[in-house]
Amino acid sequence: MDKPIYFDYAATAPVRREALEAMIQVLGQFGNPSSRYAYGREAAARVKADRETVAQALDCDPSEVCFTSCGTESDNWALRRGVELNRRKGKHIITTAMEHAAVLETCRDLERQGYEVTRLKPNRAGRITAEQVTAALRPDTALVSMMLVNNETGVVLPVRECVEAVKAVDASVLFHCDAVQGFLKTQPPLGKLGADLVAVSGHKIGAPKGVGALYIKKGVRLRPLLTGGGQEEGLRSGTEATAQIAAFAAAVRANLAETDRLERTCAIKNYTLAKLKEAVPKLEVISPGDAPHICAISLPGYKSEVVVRVLGDRGVCVSSGSACHKGKPSHVFAAMGLPRSWLDGALRLSFSPESTPEEADALVSALKDAAESLFTTLS
Ligand code: PLP
Repeated sequence: MDKPIYFDYAATAPVRREALEAMIQVLGQFGNPSSRYAYGREAAARVKADRETVAQALDCDPSEVCFTSCGTESDNWALRRGVELNRRKGKHIITTAMEHAAVLETCRDLERQGYEVTRLKPNRAGRITAEQVTAALRPDTALVSMMLVNNETGVVLPVRECVEAVKAVDASVLFHCDAVQGFLKTQPPLGKLGADLVAVSGHKIGAPKGVGALYIKKGVRLRPLLTGGGQEEGLRSGTEATAQIAAFAAAVRANLAETDRLERTCAIKNYTLAKLKEAVPKLEVISPGDAPHICAISLPGYKSEVVVRVLGDRGVCVSSGSACHKGKPSHVFAAMGLPRSWLDGALRLSFSPESTPEEADALVSALKDAAESLFTTLS
């Protein structure tokens, strides 16, 4: 198969060469970090160094970084144990209607256990304000969970401002941020958002799938989700995935070394959007995205699953929304109140610094052909 023309970096990014090399090296070292002999100590030292690297990227203390298996695990841990930590306050949770399923489905599960969830609705541009969050606060609010970068629109939510506003009203409310799409893509570093808990994931930044982390602010005494051998200072049992962790840290280092990566990503996104608007007049921009790597468009009246398939047949990979939607209209675009025809034809494009104008031109040409040849429900 030819190399795909890939515009779905928000679904997952290719494993970076540096990450692969680190992974292979550590796979050859095989020691268990809990073992007391040299092989074990060597593995433990490597994990310690890798934790320091991730902490540096988050701008926090290494003791505040706990490795997990993915962003979903980090979100689950933060929400389930976060509400438990604050159970004396009450059973009210505030989140947004446009979170990833890792948060929304966990909230739904907590509802089944007796929690009450307020889901804040974004405006037409996919934005939520600090005023909305503080207006929803109640004396029994235990936790607020708000994503940093929406994975379908690329909109950056004002998390730092919301944390400040919430804490000013009630400092005991825990604040969790799903920053899976924001890690190494936004400023300030995530450890400086002020949130108590921040979830990140490796495979969005060039590490392999199967590794993530949860930032737990010093002093937040979160109980473990996984109990067992007491790894990660007793916070997350399970033998450390040393090779994935090494690859995660290597991917972090490689990203940080590319100081112009965000400018390059943003430039190729803007180039693509400009070319698309020129070539496909029917196209609507749902969101140009504040984050450099994501934007959302629509071909109103078309079926995005069909467009995605037709583009896929030409080797062009885009998404009809989050990879987790499996053909259902996006809850994010629905929450924004977009008309049905826009929802049906919605596509997410996501970029990397390695995306090229030639690839963008191929996408534009494939989308133009699809718009001209496919059936539309609008005349
Ligand atoms: N949160 C957001 C915003 C995401 O985009 C994703 C993945 O797409 C996740 C959470 C889940 O992360 P993971 O795939 O590492 O479980």
